[in-house]
Amino acid sequence: MADGSFNIKEAEDMQVVVLMGGLGTRLKEYTKDCPKPLVEVEGRPFFDHSLRLLMHHGFKKFLFLIGYRAQMIEEYYGNGSSLGISITYCYDGKELLGTGGAVRRAYDLLEDDFLLMYGDSFMDIDYEETLYRYFEGKSRGMRALMTVLKNGNRFDKSNVIMDGTEIKLYDKMNMTPEMDYIDYGVCVYEKKLFEDEYIKDIIDIPKDSDGGMADIKFDIALIQNKLSIDKQIAAHIVTKRFYEIGSPASLNEFREYVRHRFNEKHPAVFLDRDGVLNEIVFNDDIEQMDSPQKLSEFKPFPEAADAIRKIKEKGYYVFLATNQPGAAKGKSKLKTLYDINTKFCEQLSEQGIDIDGVFMCPHYPKMSEKTTEKFLIKTCDCRKPKPGLLLKPKDIYNIDYENSYMIGDSFTDIVAGQTAGVKTIFIGELKCDACKKLCDIEPDHIVHNVSEAAGILP
Ligand SMILES: [Mg+2]
Repeated sequence: MADGSFNIKEAEDMQVVVLMGGLGTRLKEYTKDCPKPLVEVEGRPFFDHSLRLLMHHGFKKFLFLIGYRAQMIEEYYGNGSSLGISITYCYDGKELLGTGGAVRRAYDLLEDDFLLMYGDSFMDIDYEETLYRYFEGKSRGMRALMTVLKNGNRFDKSNVIMDGTEIKLYDKMNMTPEMDYIDYGVCVYEKKLFEDEYIKDIIDIPKDSDGGMADIKFDIALIQNKLSIDKQIAAHIVTKRFYEIGSPASLNEFREYVRHRFNEKHPAVFLDRDGVLNEIVFNDDIEQMDSPQKLSEFKPFPEAADAIRKIKEKGYYVFLATNQPGAAKGKSKLKTLYDINTKFCEQLSEQGIDIDGVFMCPHYPKMSEKTTEKFLIKTCDCRKPKPGLLLKPKDIYNIDYENSYMIGDSFTDIVAGQTAGVKTIFIGELKCDACKKLCDIEPDHIVHNVSEAAGILP
């Protein structure tokens, strides 16, 4: 749209298509009688753990593409109604069609835009950001989105070259040393990309006698490669590793992860961002100190990385909990606000520090003249001093809230922390000027900076 606004589908309206047809040959001792998504992990089928994440993010409509031991999957999940979701199925034919072929075979069941993922991977990302980036990309002529992770050949071979926050090239068939990102396993596509009209340039299409869409065996990588060359695939850079169950070793690794994350209770530290981990900056437009609104304005404090490392070493989850109303107020774009968090998390990852989650409230209750992304205007439950950002991970982590902390430099951080039932550390003057605003609420500790805060955590 000319005014810079565009429509976004919410997770509950978005179809999730899951590739589940694989044979699981490397896992054969487990998959002899059982399809990979149903391999047992800590008392539940593997895919239950992924489904829990997806449902947490609000997804409700699923299409499972099944093949090997397909019936067992359909018998186990049924139509999804007992979980409050809907699941439909598409069976692979006699011949394995590959990822692209399996999706095309389900063409009549696909919605116009759909999210595609693998049934043997656990991918804990901000799916709300994925959807935003897809639809924002569409407003610039994109037709798909790929999640990518800076890999450094940690997991599989890298296959993506990035140009800033955009994909320059994806090529799984011809990998080069320049490639330092890897496709992460979650993509979003336009349905039309699977029609003859689009794929005829890259795949031989057999003459189909009855005029319908013929089954064709092909790897979806061919579509992804073409989209990247045509600059039609948007990127969502993620920074958290994925888990998969392709081999007995990776299955065991995931078992341990599930035990730690879901079965055992651990405390968390929620960190406000601006003024705690990075400088606030002078904003010329409003002639006041403000949160960074541009990527170039984001400057982490020199002590921030070490402080986070120390908090993690003490056994806490680390979550960012940050209000960022800049896009809602028309001072920035939501894409830029996401990019700032991504850049910070990537910088930390490069130092071996992994943030467990970034929870950002981009909302604001009042429209301004400059607001273009109008969907951000709302009275939400996540804007601090409300406790929503701190309660967000509640059902996908086993958090010991009683022994958790909120660290912030504003009275809204302290109120949010207390409402969520965690201890609070205020960063500011030891006299606590802000305590006047807090009325009778006092933080548990007052310190000068985040290093000191990390130091006093038990
Ligand atoms: Mg702050």
